[in-house]
Amino acid sequence: MAKKKKGLIEQLKALIGLDKEPELMGAMCYETHMPLFVTLKCELCGMEKEYDQFLMTEDDEIIATVEQIKALGYDAKVLRTCAGCANKLGFTYKDGTPLLDSIMYCIFYFKNKDQKEYHVTRSESPDDYKAVLAYLKNEDRFYDRNEALHWVADNKEEIKRMTGITF
Ligand SMILES: [Zn+2]
Repeated sequence: MAKKKKGLIEQLKALIGLDKEPELMGAMCYETHMPLFVTLKCELCGMEKEYDQFLMTEDDEIIATVEQIKALGYDAKVLRTCAGCANKLGFTYKDGTPLLDSIMYCIFYFKNKDQKEYHVTRSESPDDYKAVLAYLKNEDRFYDRNEALHWVADNKEEIKRMTGITF
């Protein structure tokens, strides 16, 4: 059941107030690879470009997680865009420099039940989306692709950034 902003704020407060257990770290393993290029189309301007598939492997996970957020009743979507479109929306690197054209960018649109306009943000990290999903399901933890356990409470800043829910 999708909730309104007030319900979501209370849910987040309750989740981040939980006593924490030590986090289990998953092994980060990146295998060396031969570049395999795929042609992808920007979902905003339609521009097609070749990208290194290795750099795009997390996108499917993000798309699947957003589908689960939608299944909870929230109006949410993710669009994969070129650097130019992401820059036009005002997204940059943390230091303010424009995004580079090496990958596609994931733009996340989210509305809670009483919101008229989308909250729009950008993240290419599946964990940010998984944290939001866990929070919306009122779960206190989630597992990443390496089966490492993460506490929702540790991701509260990402959740606030992704959903626009602040208090
Ligand atoms: Zn574009």
